[in-house]
Amino acid sequence: IKNKYTEVYRFFDEELVNIVTKQKYIVDNIDNAIKRKDLRVYYQPVFCTKTGTLCGFEALSRWKDPTYGFLSPADYIVTLEEYRLIHKLDQFMIKSICRDIRFMLDEGFKAVPVSVNLSRIDFELGDMVTYLDKCVEKYNIDKSLVHVEITETVLMENPNDLKFQIEKFQNRGFEVWMDDFGSGYSSFNVLKDFDFDMLKIDMLFMKDFEKNKKAKKILAAIVEMAKTIGISTVAEGVETQEQFEFLRTVGCDRAQGYLFGKPTPMNDEFFDFFTKTMR
Ligand code: C2E
Ligand code: CA
Ligand code: CA
Ligand code: CA
Repeated sequence: IKNKYTEVYRFFDEELVNIVTKQKYIVDNIDNAIKRKDLRVYYQPVFCTKTGTLCGFEALSRWKDPTYGFLSPADYIVTLEEYRLIHKLDQFMIKSICRDIRFMLDEGFKAVPVSVNLSRIDFELGDMVTYLDKCVEKYNIDKSLVHVEITETVLMENPNDLKFQIEKFQNRGFEVWMDDFGSGYSSFNVLKDFDFDMLKIDMLFMKDFEKNKKAKKILAAIVEMAKTIGISTVAEGVETQEQFEFLRTVGCDRAQGYLFGKPTPMNDEFFDFFTKTMR
């Protein structure tokens, strides 16, 4: 009996099988991907709005698989979190960043800070502070050159323990940045209880920048509020010159987005860009 519904169900079954197969593949291959260099660090520039110059990078992971091609971070991060393996990726990122910074310093480039994304699960499992500490020591780089980004949703689950862990990073000399500010439900509450070094304003405020007048006003108010409590701000997802001008006008400290550059590996192009934009 073949009808519309069996077709629909078959479609879902196949989809589900694909998803599960991919998840299993990710879990089984995380170590290999690191070894084979299928996993790499890409760097996206962050610009200072006042000077219009480069002031840092965000490190984002990219997984290029021989059979699947580029896997989406959205896919493998959720899977690695679910299977409690995300620390493998994040430790790989930390180590690679420290090694890359050392390389740049040795090549005579000016030092520029890099921020790394940490997952909620990283805080439940390994001791990331100690790992980071060991890496900066091993590569002999200043602690001011590596920052940690955590999303506001991380903070809701076990606020007391996390407060302790965040302060541990800060006490050892690492800046801690709050990522995706404004995308969750308790953003302001979190600000009251934690002392962050930087607020990264979620790109949803940039998305309907043209159409939604309120989005602009809220963004301006967030920047103002952050100033009042003494936290710097960076806006994400900046794609147009108009957006950048606006950020400048309202006094947002930094900007990140395709307008300045997409995430790229540390190749010749990267060094070219770096030399041109660094002053
Ligand atoms: P995120 O930390 O909020 O990173 C910003 C995301 O926005 C990145 O997506 C970046 O490529 C994208 N983006 C940057 N500028 C623009 C722009 O102008 N327009 C638009 N439309 N998008 C822009 P990506 O690389 O796909 O990463 C997605 C998320 O995955 C990240 O969000 C971060 O939460 C997570 N992630 C990525 N790499 C890592 C990692 O190594 N470890 C952990 N724990 N999480 C990671
Ligand atoms: Ca981030
Ligand atoms: Ca973000
Ligand atoms: Ca995000």
